[in-house]
Amino acid sequence: MAHIVIVEDEPDLAAGLRDNLEFEKHTVVHAATGQEGVEAVSKQETDLVLLDIMLPDIDGFEVCRRLRASGYTMPIIILSAKGQELDKVRGLELGADDYVTKPFGLRELLARINAALRRADRPETETLRSQFTIGERRIDLVRQKVETPDGELPLGYYESEILRILHEHVGEAVPRNELLTRIWGTAVFPADRTVDNHIVSLRRKIEPNPKEPRFILTAHAVGYKLVLS
Ligand code: CA
Repeated sequence: MAHIVIVEDEPDLAAGLRDNLEFEKHTVVHAATGQEGVEAVSKQETDLVLLDIMLPDIDGFEVCRRLRASGYTMPIIILSAKGQELDKVRGLELGADDYVTKPFGLRELLARINAALRRADRPETETLRSQFTIGERRIDLVRQKVETPDGELPLGYYESEILRILHEHVGEAVPRNELLTRIWGTAVFPADRTVDNHIVSLRRKIEPNPKEPRFILTAHAVGYKLVLS
């Protein structure tokens, strides 16, 4: 059972989500504007946020940015009506963990929610390898932050996990499939581009020049590789 905040201005969609989540024994708070969403999270302990992008006041990107800037690290899943890659990457850049494109299947959303909650619940036994440096950036996987020369950037949950696995295998190519099954599990089948979108977002946070990556390299036809030299 989890406390979930739904930030969504379409009443029917919000009501349908609420019914289904309550049926799954979660408690739900519904916020119809971005501002209400930020307030709802600050008022009560929240385990997960479902976040629409197009809202009547501040948009979902800004809600995400404010929550991460305030230090909240709970999973945020974006419910996006926009299918464009650019928007997805933007959400990830601002610290969202995952996105589901409307119209989405309820079972897929519930599987993603459960997967995100399961992972967020994992005890932090791996703190030993959770802080390291990439170039001039200091990575902190527990706080889900990148310290750059220009300030801190938030890391989403999946970005942190991708970095954790690449760092475990530093210098070696890690197949895309291994990242998918280790991070998303076998119950959820994210689209092929999922890992790639997270990599685009990670590169923008870590690489001095994201267009010519020096640290997170593409291993052609295989996956990705982290190099630290
Ligand atoms: Ca909307």
